[in-house]
Amino acid sequence: MARICNFNAGPAALPLPVLERAQAEMIDYAGHGMSVMEMSHRAKSFMAIVEQAEGNIRQLMGVPDDYDILFLQGGASLQFAMFPLNLRLPGQTGAYVNTGSWASKAIKEAKLTGETAVVWDGKAENYTRAPRPDGAAYLHICSNETIGGIRFGDFPDTGDVPLLADMSSEIMSRVVNVRRFGMIYAGAQKNIGPSGLALVIMRKNLVARCPESVPVFLRYATHAEEHSLYNTPNTWGIYFIKLVTDWMLDQGGIPAIQQTNEAKAAALYAVLDGSRFWTPVAQPESRSIMNVCWRLASEDLEDLFVKEAKAAGMEGLKGHRSVGGIRASIYNAVPRACVDTLIEFMSDFERRHG
Ligand code: PMP
Repeated sequence: MARICNFNAGPAALPLPVLERAQAEMIDYAGHGMSVMEMSHRAKSFMAIVEQAEGNIRQLMGVPDDYDILFLQGGASLQFAMFPLNLRLPGQTGAYVNTGSWASKAIKEAKLTGETAVVWDGKAENYTRAPRPDGAAYLHICSNETIGGIRFGDFPDTGDVPLLADMSSEIMSRVVNVRRFGMIYAGAQKNIGPSGLALVIMRKNLVARCPESVPVFLRYATHAEEHSLYNTPNTWGIYFIKLVTDWMLDQGGIPAIQQTNEAKAAALYAVLDGSRFWTPVAQPESRSIMNVCWRLASEDLEDLFVKEAKAAGMEGLKGHRSVGGIRASIYNAVPRACVDTLIEFMSDFERRHG
């Protein structure tokens, strides 16, 4: 079996034990004589999977009872459109922090349907201060920018204004206090499963908040009332989230995974800081532990790095097409051994091209 070291930004690496279990259960899930993909979403056996996935997430993240957990289609991108429609009541403004590519996509979408204020733009002050969005319907942040490789170390205190966070590229990679958020959402395809669904964790009083004009399918309440089974959901995706979260519990939960993640990232940043051959993109206090981005002296050298790394069994290291450079996405499922392989390759590459 040839498994490469997968540094893709998303869809991304999944834990090998999860893939093996899905493979083993593919033809005949738990004695049902069919795969999960072939089952009715109303079957008891599938409803049990939804409940188990939700229960695992509640346990792993410590999600309080007054929050709903939803599995929705449309990825994180649909959320950019959906939460402003639901949470911004007539006359209200949605407040946004702009930290980069994904935060600005959320802003662009919100502007299409109502009042949108960018209360903070990272370009000016390097994301060092937390804004107070008094009177806004919510404040939205992208807690980890997948493309720029920066993250919020701590989160802004928004007082009574609900804090909403796009955690697509860092969901369940570190301990967060769910209570600090009105809503947390994430496309599944980085840390918790395959593409094609978004995990939404939302305080129930916000689930209930929705103008009459919003189409039924785009209301959180619709999906909360039906336990994510209002229409035919991404059954395979939910099943995978269940398997990945089982695996996370086996690993010792988020605190243990966070420790491993921090060690992986620290090892990589130490290499980047250790020589002027590499130029890390993010400032130290904002560094993501999921998406590590750096530059080399020229684009030619970066291309060569990506090409040689691929030949050495490492994929996905090319930076996002909008910014270039190198990016190693080291999500939960990327083993420490792959980070070590990358580091070894980097030192060899520097010796040959430095
Ligand atoms: N937010 C962030 C931070 C992302 O990284 C991405 C995808 N890379 C998205 C949103 C969009 O997610 P999706 O493709 O699931 O719509």
